[in-house]
Amino acid sequence: MPELPEVETVRMALDDALLGGRICAVAQSAKPMRWAIPKNLKSRILGGRIEAVRRRAKYLLLDVAGAHNANHDLCLLLHLGMSGSVRIYPPSVPKPKRQKHDHLMLTAEIDGGAVSMVLNDPRRFGGVVLMEKGAAQGAHPLLCNLGCEPLGNAWNGAVLLAGLASRKGAIKPALLDQNLVAGIGNIYASEALFAAGIAPETRAQNITAPQAERLARAVRDVLTRAIAAGGTSIKNHIQPGGEIGYFAQTLNVYGRAHEACYRCGDSIKMLRQSGRSSFYCPQCQK
Ligand SMILES: [Zn+2]
Repeated sequence: MPELPEVETVRMALDDALLGGRICAVAQSAKPMRWAIPKNLKSRILGGRIEAVRRRAKYLLLDVAGAHNANHDLCLLLHLGMSGSVRIYPPSVPKPKRQKHDHLMLTAEIDGGAVSMVLNDPRRFGGVVLMEKGAAQGAHPLLCNLGCEPLGNAWNGAVLLAGLASRKGAIKPALLDQNLVAGIGNIYASEALFAAGIAPETRAQNITAPQAERLARAVRDVLTRAIAAGGTSIKNHIQPGGEIGYFAQTLNVYGRAHEACYRCGDSIKMLRQSGRSSFYCPQCQK
């Protein structure tokens, strides 16, 4: 399942491929994803120029200005859900053929060439939403309750500590709450707690200021390292028309139950919290 680093990797690839392009073709499937794809999507965004490719939490946001039939600047939100992926076809390769589970194909003209991107999603938990650009600044229902961006300047130990103060329950499920911090999923919650030396069952309310400081920094570090790995993987492995967004990651605890901790050699343990698996080292995390 794509987490923040995978989505950010896709964002970088889309930014590289589509920025400044003018949308000249749109094809969509009739099947609904998490939400129905707007039927009039093509007529609303055709002729628009892609002015920015942004990310908020796990949502990709394409700012589209000057579409033929739009009075306002627009924003196209793409969500990869559980199984979504993106393919990119630069001008040098033939136009893509429709594949099974392709839900959206968008083609943009750049410097006389045509670049296409395709959103594929077998399980259809992802989605495509068109909104006015103003709503994409934060007012839209999908965006208005999201917590702090863990890679943004506002994220620090004090923000985390304040968010935890009134919370019942353990720290690990709290980190998955998108209203506390945006974009962290199950993998990087376990990894960040390991990096910070904090046990996943620790009560959120009992996290101290120094622990919150360590944890906020650990969240930023594990995400930054994963994004760097994604960037490397794009350069090394992605062929034109290749799928962007999944890459091998070096993980310290996630998925390593019963294996030896890289730091102390003790056995990594797994426990269930709020229906999700948490992985931790009982020696390194107190
Ligand atoms: Zn250990």
